[in-house]
Amino acid sequence: MKSLKENFQKAHIVIIGSGIIGKFNALELSELGFQITIIDPAKEKNSSNAALGILMGNMYQKRNGRSWDLRKQSIELWPKWIEYLQKFNYELNIKKPLIQLTTNEEKFKKLEKFIYENNDLNLQILERNSIIIQNINKAFQTKNIKGMISFKDGRINPVSLLKTLDKYLKNKKINFINEEIIRIRKLNNQWFSTTKTNRNIKSDLVILCNSLKAVDLIDNLSHNIKLKPVLGQAIEICINDSEVDLLTLPKQFNINGKNIIPISKNKLIIGSTDEYSTKPERNIFEKITNFLDKKPTWLINGQITKKWFGVRSRPEGEPSPIMKNLGNGLIICTGFYKNGILLAPACSKWVANEIKNYFY
Ligand SMILES: Cc1cc2nc3c(=O)[nH]c(=O)nc-3n(C[C@H](O)[C@H](O)[C@H](O)COP(=O)(O)OP(=O)(O)OC[C@H]3O[C@@H](n4cnc5c(N)ncnc54)[C@H](O)[C@@H]3O)c2cc1C
Repeated sequence: MKSLKENFQKAHIVIIGSGIIGKFNALELSELGFQITIIDPAKEKNSSNAALGILMGNMYQKRNGRSWDLRKQSIELWPKWIEYLQKFNYELNIKKPLIQLTTNEEKFKKLEKFIYENNDLNLQILERNSIIIQNINKAFQTKNIKGMISFKDGRINPVSLLKTLDKYLKNKKINFINEEIIRIRKLNNQWFSTTKTNRNIKSDLVILCNSLKAVDLIDNLSHNIKLKPVLGQAIEICINDSEVDLLTLPKQFNINGKNIIPISKNKLIIGSTDEYSTKPERNIFEKITNFLDKKPTWLINGQITKKWFGVRSRPEGEPSPIMKNLGNGLIICTGFYKNGILLAPACSKWVANEIKNYFY
């Protein structure tokens, strides 16, 4: 029998989909010595390019179960990957901390209880008299905002991350095919991924990282995986008020469920999730800026300078994400919903372990 190393070096893995999940799997598996081909017809028009890049792991309040394990693992793995990827882009980094805010007294009490019970030095309550909260309340012209700070969580710029991964993949001479896969099947111990133009790409293993479309490529009668599209929208707003300097606000924070990222003195990004629609809203400005009882005047008068959206996949009937070994050298990684950027390192670690087991 051939050694593990020999099998590794010869094995060819096809990754279908080149969002963050496909690219991160390619990174991890190419480091292990596999030959990788990524296939995607539209690698820039995906949900990963639309993401805000908030890494909300350590402040997750359910501190047990699979979701917590994946978050915890990713938060540990991210700094190591960043250090490694800085060889390809020295500016790539995670901006910390992350702040979660609320105007709801009950929610704040829940945060206090969570922090009190967990005794984690990386999480702290932000009282009304703290400088950070005073600045936020002043900027948002209110007195009711309170919350918590997580020193381990933060944000990575997703577009910069994806570009850095592209550089890495190019440097490693990873094969990229700009096509859509319409069928996969296994014949005589080999997988055949068929493109729309009828090309057949042979491989030993296939990893499905093509989000909502992953279920179209598997026999769903035997696997019964259901995914629902969930819209995510974001806008960049320019304000025109010389009294307000958005850079005095934290680098990234969340108020009543909306993620907010100040990017300059007079510009900020706000993102939201819409569970009930797949089409972008017409009145997006109204909807996305409606996170306080009363909006500050600078926000009322703000102008949209950019807007974008992405459609994410959310599993139905089981928790997010779906990471399953379907057997016979076929793995599915989908349904990452709100947290694909956060969970990419934990996902690729899981895939690598499954593949190592496949060869033993
Ligand atoms: C507005 C917004 C904000 C977000 N903010 C955050 C955040 O702050 N933090 C966070 O962690 N996550 C965030 N997310 C969620 C995150 O973007 C997703 O969870 C993540 O992008 C999922 O990555 P993916 O690789 O599974 O899917 P995608 O990025 O959608 O990639 C799937 C790829 O598969 C390709 N594909 C589809 N079918 C085929 C086929 N048949 N053959 C070949 N290729 C195919 C597509 O072209 C696509 O490129 C946000 C999402 C949105 C929309």
